[in-house]
Amino acid sequence: MQPTPKHHNGTRSIYLETFGCQMNELDSELVQDQLVALGFVFMDDRDRADVVLFNTCSVREQAENKVLSRVGELGIEKKNGREIVVGMLGCLPEREGQRLLGRFPQVDFICGPSELDRLPTLLNNAITGIVLKISERAALQGNRSRRSSTLSAAKDNLELLDLARAFNPDHRKTGGRSAYVRITRGCNKFCTYCVVPNTRGAEVHRPPDSIIEECQKLVESGAIEVTLLGQTVNHYRYTHGVALNSEGREVPQIGPGLTAFKKPLDNSQRITTFANLLQRIHDEVPKIQRLRFVTSYPRDFQDDILEVMRDCPRICNYLHVPAQSGSNRILQLMNRGYTVEEYLDFIDRARTIIPDVEIAGDIIVGFPTETDEDFMETESLIRTVRFKNNFVFSYSPRPSTVAIDRYMDDVPRETKLERVNHLLKVGGEISGEVHQTYEGKVVDVFVERISPKSERNNNGVELRWRESTVQLSGRTPGDLICVFDVYSKKEAHSLIGSIVPVTVIGSAPLLLKGILSRDNMAI
Ligand code: SAM
Ligand code: SF4
Repeated sequence: MQPTPKHHNGTRSIYLETFGCQMNELDSELVQDQLVALGFVFMDDRDRADVVLFNTCSVREQAENKVLSRVGELGIEKKNGREIVVGMLGCLPEREGQRLLGRFPQVDFICGPSELDRLPTLLNNAITGIVLKISERAALQGNRSRRSSTLSAAKDNLELLDLARAFNPDHRKTGGRSAYVRITRGCNKFCTYCVVPNTRGAEVHRPPDSIIEECQKLVESGAIEVTLLGQTVNHYRYTHGVALNSEGREVPQIGPGLTAFKKPLDNSQRITTFANLLQRIHDEVPKIQRLRFVTSYPRDFQDDILEVMRDCPRICNYLHVPAQSGSNRILQLMNRGYTVEEYLDFIDRARTIIPDVEIAGDIIVGFPTETDEDFMETESLIRTVRFKNNFVFSYSPRPSTVAIDRYMDDVPRETKLERVNHLLKVGGEISGEVHQTYEGKVVDVFVERISPKSERNNNGVELRWRESTVQLSGRTPGDLICVFDVYSKKEAHSLIGSIVPVTVIGSAPLLLKGILSRDNMAI
C-alpha cells in the first residue's frame, strides 16, 4: 500500500507517543516497523509531523486523561487550520468504542490493540481523505476473541505483526541491545478492577518455536537482553500439535484456563510449560546474556520455574509479582484467586530456591470498602516481603469492569492519597535497606543510558557531579538501578548496551551508586 506522497521526497512524517505498559511499548515498536516499511518516517517533533498517533493506556483514569488532553490540543490546532491526521491506538479506543470518534471529531481513526495489523489501511484512508462512515474509521476487536470455542487462534492476525518484526536495532531500547518479546497476549483473569481482559481480549499463547525464532533474530541484530512479556507469564502453556495452519506450522492458541493448573500435566500430549519455555530460550539462544520476564501471577507459580531460574545463569533473579493487597477480604473482592498466606508461601519458596532473588510488586489502595484494618494488613505484607520496590496505585474505577458495577468507590480521595503516601514512605524505607545490602559488593550492570542528572550537570543546572565526568545508569540482574561515573561522553556511549562490573559504594531507596570496576572488565 502506498501512502499519498506529500513531501518532496515522497514521505510522510509520523509522531508516535506511547502511554502505559511494556506491552504498549512493544506494540509501538511493531507499529513503527510496519509503517516504516510502507515509506513513513518517524520524528520526535509533534508540531511538525503530518500524522500524530497516540498509543493509549486505559488502566487508570489518569492515564486516559493525559492522552485526551493531548487530543484536545490537536483539536484546537486543527480548528486553526493545521492539516494533520490524528489516530488513537490501543486500550482507550478499544474500551470506549466508536463513540470516541463522535466525541472527538479531530480524531481521524481509532485502532484497538488487537487490530494493529489494520492500521496501514486506516491511516491510508485518512491521508487520502476519503469520506468514510464512523464504523469504517474504527478497527476494534469487540468481544470477538472470546467467541472462539477451539484451541486454535489461527485467525489471530496480530501474530503476523510479531513475526514480521523488522529486527531494526535503531528504535529498540539501549541502542538495540535490549528487546521485548511477547509470549502471551490478552488476559483471562478478570480481576474485578481491571480493564485489560476487555481491551486486550482473550489470553492467547504463542508457539514456542515462533518465540525462539524471534529471540534468535533479535540477538542476531544485536540484542543481549530479552524481556518476555505477558500479563501472567507463569500461566504460559502451549499444547503441541493441536493448532496448526494450512502449512502445518504451529499457530497461537487460546490459553488453557485456570483449572488446567490444578491438575497434573496430561502426559499423552506434548506440552511446553513456562519453565520449559525459559529453559529452551536459555539453552537455544546462548547469545542472550540476560533473560527476564514480566509480569508474574502469584497463583500457580510452580517450583519448576524457580528451579530453571536458579539453574540457568543467564536468567535474571528477578520477579515482578504484584500482590495488589494484603487483606484476604479485599483480594477476594478483587477476584485475585489467592490468599495472603498463599502469596507469602510463594515468596518463601522463591527465596528458598533462589536466595538472592529480588522481588518487585504492585499494590492498589482504596479499593471499595477497604478499611484501616485492611490497609494495615497491606502495610504488614509489604514489611514482611521486603520488596526491592513496590508500585502503589490509587484505585481508579474503570468502565466495563466488574468492580465499577458491583461496588461503590467509597474510599474518599484524601484517604486514598494518604494511604498511597504512607505505603510509598514505608516501601521507600524498606527499599533503602534492601539497596544498602549491596554496598561493598561488585554487581554486573547492563548500561542503559546517560543518566538524566548527568545531562543536567553538563548544562550547568545541577553541579552535584563533577562536570568533567558523565554519569551512566543501568540495571543489575535483580533490576536495581545503578549509577556510576565515567570520564567522557565518548566512553559513556561506548559502554551503553554492555554489561560492566561496578563496585557499589553507596545507596538510596531506589538507587545504587558505584564505581566502574575497571580491573574486572573484560577488555
Ligand atoms: N497483569 C498484571 C498482574 O496481574 O499483576 C498487571 C497488569 S496491570 C496493566 C498493571 C497494574 O495496574 C496492576 O498490577 C494494578 O496494580 C494496576 N491497576 C490495574 N487496574 C487498576 C485500577 N483500576 N486502578 C488502579 N490500579 C490498577
Ligand atoms: Fe488485569 Fe488481573 Fe489480568 Fe493482571 S491478571 S491484566 S490485573 S485482569
